[in-house]
Amino acid sequence: MDSVQPLSPPSRVLMGPGPSDVAPSVLRALAAPTVGHLDPAFLKVMDEVRAMLRVVFGTENEITLPMSATGSAGMETCFVNLLEPGDAVLVGINGVFGGRMAEVARRCGAEVVTVEQEWGRALSPEQFREAGAGRPFKLMALVHAETSTGALTDLAGFREAADEHGALLVVDAVTSFAGRPIEVDRHGVDAIYTGTQKCLSCPPGLSPVSFSERAMKVVRERERPVQSWYLDLSLIGQYWGKERAYHHTAPVNMVYALHESLRLVMEEGLEARFARHAKNAAALRAGLEAMGLELPVPAEERLDPLTLVRIPEGVEDGATRKALLARYGLEIGGGLGAFKGQAWRIGLMGAACTERNVVLCLSALKDVLASQGFEAKADPVAAARAALG
Ligand SMILES: *Cc1c(COP(=O)(O)O)cnc(C)c1O
Repeated sequence: MDSVQPLSPPSRVLMGPGPSDVAPSVLRALAAPTVGHLDPAFLKVMDEVRAMLRVVFGTENEITLPMSATGSAGMETCFVNLLEPGDAVLVGINGVFGGRMAEVARRCGAEVVTVEQEWGRALSPEQFREAGAGRPFKLMALVHAETSTGALTDLAGFREAADEHGALLVVDAVTSFAGRPIEVDRHGVDAIYTGTQKCLSCPPGLSPVSFSERAMKVVRERERPVQSWYLDLSLIGQYWGKERAYHHTAPVNMVYALHESLRLVMEEGLEARFARHAKNAAALRAGLEAMGLELPVPAEERLDPLTLVRIPEGVEDGATRKALLARYGLEIGGGLGAFKGQAWRIGLMGAACTERNVVLCLSALKDVLASQGFEAKADPVAAARAALG
C-alpha cells in the first residue's frame, strides 16, 4: 500500500439536515485523555451528562442516557425494548423518519397501522384517534420535528390520544432536541430519542434516550428478552445507573463531547437557545421569500432548525449545491423522499444557527442562483436584517 497522508478535512459551514457545525470546545473535549469506562473521573462525567440530558428533555426519568450509536439506534432502542412480536402499533408518517419508524416496528414483528399525512404538514392527535378507533395499541409513535420536510408537530394532545388506545407514547426528537422545547414529562411522553449531531452541535455518534417508569415497567415485564442484546435498556441501565455493571465499553471521548455540548446548552440557557433558533429561522425565511423562493410548509407548522425551500423552475438541484460548496464551503441539504430533486433543506442548528450564517447562506444562494438564471426579486439580506430588527 502507498503511504497514506494524514487527514486534512476541509472546514465547512454545515447548514444541511445534520451534522451541524461543531463548537470548538466540543472538538477539544474529544481530544481529552481517554480514561477507563469505569474510572471514577468518568463516572462523574456520566452522572453530569445524565443530569443535563434530563434538563433538556424536560424529564425526571431515571432511565435517561446516551446510546452508543447514531439517532437511528435511539429509534431502534425504543421499538426493540417496548415491542414483542404480534403487538399492534400506530405510527404517524409525514416524512422519511416516520416511515423509518414503521419499518423498524415491522422488523420487531409488530402489526403496524400507519397514520398518513401529506409530506410537509404536521400530524394531529385527531388523526391518531380516528386511525386507531375502537381498538387497543401497545404504542403510538410520531416524529416531533420531521427533518425530511421541515414540519413540526405540536406534542399537545397526543398523550390523551394515546390513552384512548391504552398506548405508550413514543416520540422522535432528533432534530428538536436543544433547538425547540420538548417537555417530556409535561406531554406524558413514555419513550423518546435524539441524536448528537443536530441542534446539540456535537459530532454524530450518540443517541440520548429517555424512558418513563411506565415504559420501563413494560420492558421489565416482557415475555421474552429484548431481541437486541446491545440495545437492551435493562442491561445498559445497570451501567449508567448505580450498579456500574460492565455492558459494553462506553465511547469515552464521545461522552466527553456530549458533556461539553450539553454544558454549552446549560450556559446559554434553554429559553435563550430556543429564542436564538426562532429569531435566525425567521430571518432566513424572510430572506428566502424576499428572493421569490417558496417555502412549502405552512407558516404555523414550520420547524426553526430546518427550513424546506422549493427549488425554482429551471434551476438545477445538484449544480446549485455543488457551487455552494465549492464557492462558499457551504453545505445545504437536498430533498428526501417526496421532495427529492424538488426542494432544499436548510438547517440552522446549534452552533451553526447564527446571524452570520443566515447572511452567508442568503448571499451565497442569491449569487449561485443568479448563475443558474434565477434573479432574486428583492435583496434577501435586507429582508433578513429587517426581520432581525
Ligand atoms: C437524523 C434523524 C434521524 C436519524 O439519525 P441518524 O443519526 O442519522 O441515525 C432520525 N430521525 C430524525 C427526525 C432525524 O432528523
